[in-house]
Amino acid sequence: MKLDSYWLDTAPVFSEGAEGPVDGRADVVVIGGGFTGLSAALELATRGASVTVLEAGRIASEASGRNGGQCNTGVAQDFASLAARVGLEQARGFYRAYESAVASVESIVTSHQIDCDFVRTGKLKLAAKPKHFEKLARTYEVLRREVDRQVELIPPERMRSEIGSDGFHGGLLQRNGVQMHMGKFGVGLAKAATRHGARIFEGAAVTQLKRIDGERYELTSARGVIKADQVLVATGPSRLGPLQWFQQRMAPVGSFIVVTEPLSKQQLDAFFPHRRSYVTSLNIGNYFRVTPDNRLLWGGRARFAMSNPRSDEKSGNVLRKGLAKYFPELATTRIDYCWGGLIDITVDRLPRAGQHEGLYYSMGYSGHGVQMSTHMGRVMADVMSGSDHANPWRMLSWPAVPGHAGRAWTLPLVGAYYRMQDLLF
Ligand SMILES: Cc1cc2nc3c(=O)[nH]c(=O)nc-3n(C[C@H](O)[C@H](O)[C@H](O)COP(=O)(O)OP(=O)(O)OC[C@H]3O[C@@H](n4cnc5c(N)ncnc54)[C@H](O)[C@@H]3O)c2cc1C
Repeated sequence: MKLDSYWLDTAPVFSEGAEGPVDGRADVVVIGGGFTGLSAALELATRGASVTVLEAGRIASEASGRNGGQCNTGVAQDFASLAARVGLEQARGFYRAYESAVASVESIVTSHQIDCDFVRTGKLKLAAKPKHFEKLARTYEVLRREVDRQVELIPPERMRSEIGSDGFHGGLLQRNGVQMHMGKFGVGLAKAATRHGARIFEGAAVTQLKRIDGERYELTSARGVIKADQVLVATGPSRLGPLQWFQQRMAPVGSFIVVTEPLSKQQLDAFFPHRRSYVTSLNIGNYFRVTPDNRLLWGGRARFAMSNPRSDEKSGNVLRKGLAKYFPELATTRIDYCWGGLIDITVDRLPRAGQHEGLYYSMGYSGHGVQMSTHMGRVMADVMSGSDHANPWRMLSWPAVPGHAGRAWTLPLVGAYYRMQDLLF
């Protein structure tokens, strides 16, 4: 078993990274080469800006290359609860932002001809308990009435046509969700950005930020110093570098994934006839899908822990047990990959984007970021050109998480709370 991301292990090599030292100046320096940073770099470079990306490690090797591979419409939380909290109009706007985000991914894949196994299969949310189906049914009514005519409720008696497991009690289908190979998409984005003139430096962790005036900054990185007229911070839940203001506003939560050996067509047709993206309705639930080469990717929060090889392996064992519970026939299937990554969770699970002390930023996608990070890269290019109204998150304030200094010490407590909720409700 490889303790490595399947997406990164099976992605093409990115060999167009800039050589030599980081120096001189750029119209825009982007800190972070995940989907947010790469998409912004591509968009800005396409518009003729001189763009430099400073990436601490390899491009798209953190959350963007370690995720569950789902690219869905829909907000991270229950739509009805969101509408009750922020108002219907606002909730509709947020929901539509995710539709635009999936459309952005599709348009980038198409217009830059990124070969990444892009396919539209829809997302099926699975009721893990009979009473969860009642909640899905209420959500379905609101979604259909207010914002998404295509959503479909699958009653318990029709579930066998959707999934080969007796563990689920109905489902909610959102047809617009897509899937792709995250490693191929990341490398494709980076290559497209370099083709349009962006310079991407890997191994260039930013260690110091000095404000010159207004939006102008001098950035010190592991590979040299550069001045920028504008800076975009696209670092996810990073704990590296001078980013404390951002770190105090998100809780980095570990999420873990295992990938099986390839399954036969007969097995896949029996268990996942429509090859959808699946999520379960528990607080500490699971997300899963089939990879382009017919493996089952099975993820979940597993343990409230940070990701590192030892921790990932322990989480992998928890995930394996969960997989066997829902699909007993796959209990002895070989696990070929196991890894983890950090999710940048905000208190209300809504993203944040805007400007702080002259630095532009976009992050906090709270586990629903494949589409939104890619979309926000484009949106931030607009915002940085003066079109602030393009930013769907502009009106959200962003207070620090109370008592949180950017570390993960509260995670076991948070985990115990959610596990209790899953037992009770
Ligand atoms: C295990 C897991 C499963 C997930 N599953 C899904 C899913 O199925 N669907 C979905 O929609 N979302 C999912 N997500 C979330 C999604 O992957 C992220 O929201 C998205 O990739 C965020 O992209 P990003 O570019 O903002 O951040 P990242 O991909 O984390 O990129 C940030 C980059 O910044 C770099 N960096 C950090 N600090 C510095 C510094 N000081 N200097 C230079 N560079 C720096 C990092 O090295 C990193 O490459 C998942 C996340 C994880 C971890």
